[in-house]
Amino acid sequence: MQALIKKFPCEGLWLEEVPEPTVGVNDVLIRVHRTGICGTDIHIYNWDKWAEKTVLTPLIVGHEFVGEVVETGSNVSGFTSGDIVSGEGHVVCGQCRNCLAGRRHLCSETSSVGINRSGAFAEYISIPSTNVWRHAPKIDLDIAAIFDPFGNAVHSALAFPLIGEDVVITGAGPIGVMATAVVRHAAARHIVVVDPNSYRRQLASIMGATLVIDPRERDLKEIQAELGMVEGFDVGIEMSGSTAALRSMISNMCHGGSIAILGIPGADSEIDWSTIVLNMLTIRGICGREMYETWYKMTVMLNNGLDISSVITHRFHHREYQKAFEAMKSGESGKIVLDWSK
Ligand code: NAD
Ligand code: ZN
Repeated sequence: MQALIKKFPCEGLWLEEVPEPTVGVNDVLIRVHRTGICGTDIHIYNWDKWAEKTVLTPLIVGHEFVGEVVETGSNVSGFTSGDIVSGEGHVVCGQCRNCLAGRRHLCSETSSVGINRSGAFAEYISIPSTNVWRHAPKIDLDIAAIFDPFGNAVHSALAFPLIGEDVVITGAGPIGVMATAVVRHAAARHIVVVDPNSYRRQLASIMGATLVIDPRERDLKEIQAELGMVEGFDVGIEMSGSTAALRSMISNMCHGGSIAILGIPGADSEIDWSTIVLNMLTIRGICGREMYETWYKMTVMLNNGLDISSVITHRFHHREYQKAFEAMKSGESGKIVLDWSK
């Protein structure tokens, strides 16, 4: 089969013929139809410091995908050939205290598809059946391909109650703009989205932001006055990884406000702890998706009219992966989907 592999420990990815994966007794073999490119794939492509210390070559990369079940292991029930499925990329141990308590997203022995184990940028992928999510047969395949990052957006956005609340989202990358759509769908009042990138601010507007701002030009305090807010934002959702963004968010929250942080800040990021303490802010780190409550909520919201389709700005055949990675690196993109048909 064809697969995009990280063949050597240097910049680049290679499209090669590799053997089809074997199917263990607890596994499901999936013919991949579409995949999404994640920021993580860019880190691996560029072979930055994080990739260097995390990834062992050679490796099939990629973890955002949709496909069709073609074979199931002898222990697997509940899936049949032809089912349209995506995969939860976090493979958990199933035996630790958190796993046994049903809190699988908190497993400390998690391995990740396309990072520590064979990935989805391939014609076939085999994953444990406990990692397979079946879609409604008529789901839009492009949307199904990005359930993983959509899940990051939903997990973060729904961390705190939203109805009637004033929300600030920092970072209008693909995940930030999907979170914007979710927060709008969940009936927040004002949604202010902050990003220095004008292409992405425009996407955030399309996805339901009340107001988008460039942090180099406008300050959240001044925006609050403009929107008639007096006490600060009720909910903050950090999706940029920028410490400057987090600092500005913290200083613009109402007393008792709540912040969900998905963006991964650099080492030694200094923030104003006294404001967190004195204003009694709640801060929650978010990783991945809840298994499978987040997947359930994504499915139900889409069925109830949530439209995230504008986040997909580019589509390429998998053989054009170089063009796709270039588009992704340009910053002038939302989600990019690769087609794995022959
Ligand atoms: P992305 O890199 O595409 O988007 C980040 C956005 O932040 C960009 O549009 C950038 O212009 C913007 N930004 C930069 N500086 C800013 C500032 N000072 N204020 C406001 N915005 C600023 O990322 P993405 O794929 O949308 O993911 C969002 C974040 O979540 C990233 O930091 C990513 O590493 C992280 N992430 C975390 C998890 C997890 O499980 N915790 C999973 C996926 C992604
Ligand atoms: Zn575990």
